[in-house]
Amino acid sequence: MTTTQPRTTQSINQEQLASLIANIRGTVIQPTDAKYDLARTIHNAMIDKHPALIVRCADAADVMHAVNFARANDLLLAVRGGGHNVAGLSMCDGGLVIDLSEMSGVRIDPERRTARVEGGATWGKLDHAAHAFGLATPSGIISTTGVAGLTLGGGFGHLSRHYGLSCDNLLSADIVTADGQFRTVSADKNPDLFWAIRGGGGNFGVVTSFEFRLHPVGMVYGGPIFYPVEKTEQLLNFFRDYMRQAPIELSAFFSFHQGPPAPFIPEPLHFVPMVAIVVCYSGDDPAQGEELVRPLRQVAEPAVDLVGMIPYPALNSMFDAIYCPGLQHYWKTDYEPRLLDGAIKVHSEYGPQVPSLQSTMHLYPQSGAIQQVGRSETAYGQRDVEYVHNIVAIDADPANMPRNMAWMRAYAEALRPYSAAGGYVNFLMADEGQERVKATYGDNYERLVDVKTAYDPTNLFRVNQNIKPRG
Ligand SMILES: Cc1cc2nc3c(=O)[nH]c(=O)nc-3n(C[C@H](O)[C@H](O)[C@H](O)COP(=O)(O)OP(=O)(O)OC[C@H]3O[C@@H](n4cnc5c(N)ncnc54)[C@H](O)[C@@H]3O)c2cc1C
Repeated sequence: MTTTQPRTTQSINQEQLASLIANIRGTVIQPTDAKYDLARTIHNAMIDKHPALIVRCADAADVMHAVNFARANDLLLAVRGGGHNVAGLSMCDGGLVIDLSEMSGVRIDPERRTARVEGGATWGKLDHAAHAFGLATPSGIISTTGVAGLTLGGGFGHLSRHYGLSCDNLLSADIVTADGQFRTVSADKNPDLFWAIRGGGGNFGVVTSFEFRLHPVGMVYGGPIFYPVEKTEQLLNFFRDYMRQAPIELSAFFSFHQGPPAPFIPEPLHFVPMVAIVVCYSGDDPAQGEELVRPLRQVAEPAVDLVGMIPYPALNSMFDAIYCPGLQHYWKTDYEPRLLDGAIKVHSEYGPQVPSLQSTMHLYPQSGAIQQVGRSETAYGQRDVEYVHNIVAIDADPANMPRNMAWMRAYAEALRPYSAAGGYVNFLMADEGQERVKATYGDNYERLVDVKTAYDPTNLFRVNQNIKPRG
């Protein structure tokens, strides 16, 4: 990516800028700096934004300075955790970006089974540090994703049916709010803010560190099983009943992928559309995992079966290479309250047409431990839907995106009759509108507005799926 629209910082109070630079331990990156283009590059290559300043913070004190500076200069403010948000909500045009990428420390307390994680860490860092103690906490399925954005929006992955959403495992957090104050939030301290950040996204401040509960997860029985797409309808019918009966220790999601050109996939299947069911059994007894997965091996002849004992961090980074940075992304997501026969027919029609190596549809069960938390216990309110589907158009070549997006749009449109009004906040694009955000939070929306009004009355933190303050 190159700079097509150089921005200067001339409109910013130069005295205050000099003071910011002098006061912080991190780096202030300006459009004229050699590092600028790299620093404004995020995971989705479709995003090409040009902030006036990028403040790469070294600690919470830097974050406080940067928040105060943005507020005093009336600058649009974006916050970058892992930079994975496909809507590009970690960057902005013309404003200030608080970049946390150098605040990525992780400290494990093996006795208390907790992890203290800085606001710019990725899941790979946490997985690795915790695995040394045979511990883990629910994350996403790609290890390069940021802990912060994923957790603040909810967060689900291979361990979520067993141990809940990432935000359900949050014990406390340190957050710098719009007034520049540093606050610790937990069930006992600032409980309203603690409630709001568990699902309410980046609306309430900059989280400088998270404290998570960890669980005994070392080796898991997991991986993908690929099947011919001709079996889609049969597989989905089976999968629906299978997941309704599965113990919570077993997570699995259903997907369509072109066979990756990897040595463990037979060459005739490279780039061939296939169904992939990705499983993860995280219970104590591997033999039970094998027993639980057996029906998946019997329902139809697998084309490739890669399920086995694997360290959790290895499972969690298995697909990183396919979803490397620099690809073009556009996504369409919806909650599917129940997987109905009509929806199965739609998936069976469109899934097998998956148009590129990275484009896909993932159908994530939202059952198990996710549903053991009440709808109003955290801001993440969609606790009683059966599935989230995410239809994603991804390609390395921008010229191929119209074809990928046409497939994605037609597929999502055909599923509309089976979809709820809201969507998973971390998968939404930037242009989906305020009604969609409201529908996403449902009954929790008004309470979120109350917390937003109390802590961010001028909507300083608005580069997100925005919850607007009153007034
Ligand atoms: C390849 C890929 C795979 C994914 N897989 C999953 C998955 O398995 N499960 C899942 O639940 N989601 C998944 N996601 C979606 C992911 O949860 C969101 O993209 C999420 O926003 C990423 O967090 P981040 O910190 O990397 O994002 P960023 O782009 O850095 O930020 C996203 C939002 O969070 C805010 N934010 C970031 N850091 C902070 C902070 N420290 N304090 C306050 N606000 C902050 C930003 O302002 C922005 O609004 C995936 C995304 C990608 C691209």
